[in-house]
Amino acid sequence: TTNLSQQDPEVFDALRREVERQNDGIELIASENFTSRAVMEAMGSPLTNKYAEGLPGKRYYGGCKYVDVAEDLARDRAKELFGVDWVNVQPHSGAQANAALYLKALDPGDKLLGLDLAHGGHLTHGSPVNFSGILYEAHFYGVDKDGPNAGRIDMNKVRDKAKEVQPKMISIGASAYPRDFDYAAFREIADEVGALLWMDMAHTAGLIATGVLNDPAPHAHVITTTTHKTLRGPRGGMILVGNDIDNPFGYTYRDGRTKSLGQVLDSGVFPGTQGGPLMHVIAAKAVAFKEALQPEFATYTQNVVENANVMADALQDRGYDLVSGGTDNHLVLIDLRNKDLTGKKAEEALEAADITANKNMVPYDTESPFVTSGIRLGTPAMTTRGFGPEEFEQIVELIDRVLQSPDDEGVRKSVRNDVHALCDRFPLYDFVVA
Ligand code: PLP
Repeated sequence: TTNLSQQDPEVFDALRREVERQNDGIELIASENFTSRAVMEAMGSPLTNKYAEGLPGKRYYGGCKYVDVAEDLARDRAKELFGVDWVNVQPHSGAQANAALYLKALDPGDKLLGLDLAHGGHLTHGSPVNFSGILYEAHFYGVDKDGPNAGRIDMNKVRDKAKEVQPKMISIGASAYPRDFDYAAFREIADEVGALLWMDMAHTAGLIATGVLNDPAPHAHVITTTTHKTLRGPRGGMILVGNDIDNPFGYTYRDGRTKSLGQVLDSGVFPGTQGGPLMHVIAAKAVAFKEALQPEFATYTQNVVENANVMADALQDRGYDLVSGGTDNHLVLIDLRNKDLTGKKAEEALEAADITANKNMVPYDTESPFVTSGIRLGTPAMTTRGFGPEEFEQIVELIDRVLQSPDDEGVRKSVRNDVHALCDRFPLYDFVVA
């Protein structure tokens, strides 16, 4: 019953200062968001105490009747949200969801084809430093370097690559790709080469749930996601089965049995790659999915994309080069090479002005991953906070001021003051604040 502040002032202080940082700064990391108080209440609850290996109604532990209710709510709401018949809400994170899929979809040494990390893909799509690139034979497609399709995926090139590689699984999805995907074309290619088609919608799940972006569910065999990005839930992962999962190409499950794809993936999560599920997080996922089913959430995601477009236009007006020339989703990727700046330098200068963003490789980058030539800016978090087109125009003006004089302490300070004034107009969290 002792408060955290009394029992452990050191941890409390770190927490308090982080909340202040979130309250006072402009958060443009494309993979971040601000969850509701209700989501955090579920996360910070005694449900964290409960072991519940297995699935609702089929647990390996007693005392699960109430956590079963929470997990059933999470599953039913997720199915409704994404229009699918099967989900597993237990993965601890996006990477864990992907690990469970790999375990069941591929044998070590099998080939997979995904979007190049340097072109916006994710580490878990075959990077040599990740299990996906260590255990499996990863091949990549990319985006065009120049021409009318610069910065975009050319489906003819994906087809050529797939025919050449003959992968067992093709992945779609990205961490830094500002455009939408043509899922029907990907499925056609997957069918042509007999591959399983997997969409990792970690970044765009909220936009997909509300129909702001194309829907992978009719085309992908398997969909994985995080729940904490545009979906605005607790930190976590989820796996969904697509709606057209006939296996005309004769895909056989590793254990040879005729379980449904959903059942196979369930066992990929537990016992395949995880132990006990995080029931407090699963309850928080249920809360977030209910929020995402409300009409306000659809308005929110429309605003996320509108704000990203406002930011894209304002940046281009100021001479910034955007990968693919704009955005369809929640993020823009600036190629800083015409500004004689690296991503590392830009990230540091912006952070000093309390604007948080991350350096990012741009396609065909000439800098190392630690330096990079790009910076990625996303709108989900500040849109949650209530920022609209006017505020995003102002953000671009502030960013431009910093990046024009990245070493100028006076500029950093004056921008920081403007950032604080802007944030003060849109209150965020009023708890855990001294
Ligand atoms: N997949 C994609 C496309 C991502 O962008 C991310 C997160 O950045 C992940 C998977 C991994 O999610 P997590 O950080 O929850 O493991």
